[in-house]
Amino acid sequence: MGWVQANYPGLTVFQCEELNDGQVVQGFSARNCGNLALHTGDDPNRVIERRKSWLKVLGLDLDRLVSGIQVHGTKVALVDRTAAGSGAFNIEGAFPETDALITKETELILATYTADCLPIFVYDPVTPAIGVIHAGWRGTIKSIVTFTIKRMIEEFGINPVNCLAAIGPSICSGCFRVDRQLAEAFEKVHPQTVIEDESGSRVDLQAFIRLDLTEIGLKPERIYDAKLCTSCHPDRFFSYRAEKGVIGRMMGIIALKSV
Ligand SMILES: [Zn+2]
Repeated sequence: MGWVQANYPGLTVFQCEELNDGQVVQGFSARNCGNLALHTGDDPNRVIERRKSWLKVLGLDLDRLVSGIQVHGTKVALVDRTAAGSGAFNIEGAFPETDALITKETELILATYTADCLPIFVYDPVTPAIGVIHAGWRGTIKSIVTFTIKRMIEEFGINPVNCLAAIGPSICSGCFRVDRQLAEAFEKVHPQTVIEDESGSRVDLQAFIRLDLTEIGLKPERIYDAKLCTSCHPDRFFSYRAEKGVIGRMMGIIALKSV
């Protein structure tokens, strides 16, 4: 259980089994799915074709996709049926300045785009309700995860104790080196996530997210970390750090099905 890799002809998908229970579809694209983001200077027509191919593997249609324009902020967008297709075919239609999307409506695909940043997927099977979060180090330190769960409580009345959360492939604590000033900023919130050795400071972003999630009420055993580093495995993932600003982004999605 936990995260598994599924291979389709030419495409690899990572999925958390607990979040694919029949009521929900969740997945994260590997590098061989190609760049799936429209904001990095790639040919939009090719991106759209790749998006269609990868979503088809998951049994999903691109016209149900919902995206935000990610700015490393903490804005959470509440998404309803009128939002279907927002940002699916062009960047202009995406939710402005939005790094997290939540909904309790079915047949909407909530998407995030990452290459080292943390894609986080939240699912409350009781309500039911879902959320997707883009958390780079900036969003992590601003506790975007906490903002998102709080908003799900306000809007849907969820109980965090019922929630499942999955942390997708992202930069590991071995690769995420920071200067002392940034390390101190992390220490102010969760000191146990900073690692010091003779080579300098590093931060465990996944541990930080896990602490935020448990502090707001999620059960530790219901948080599933893929434990796959995008920067350690450039053959399998795009890595912003390892490739110095590569244009490729993976897509992470979660969708409630109408069952
Ligand atoms: Zn690594």
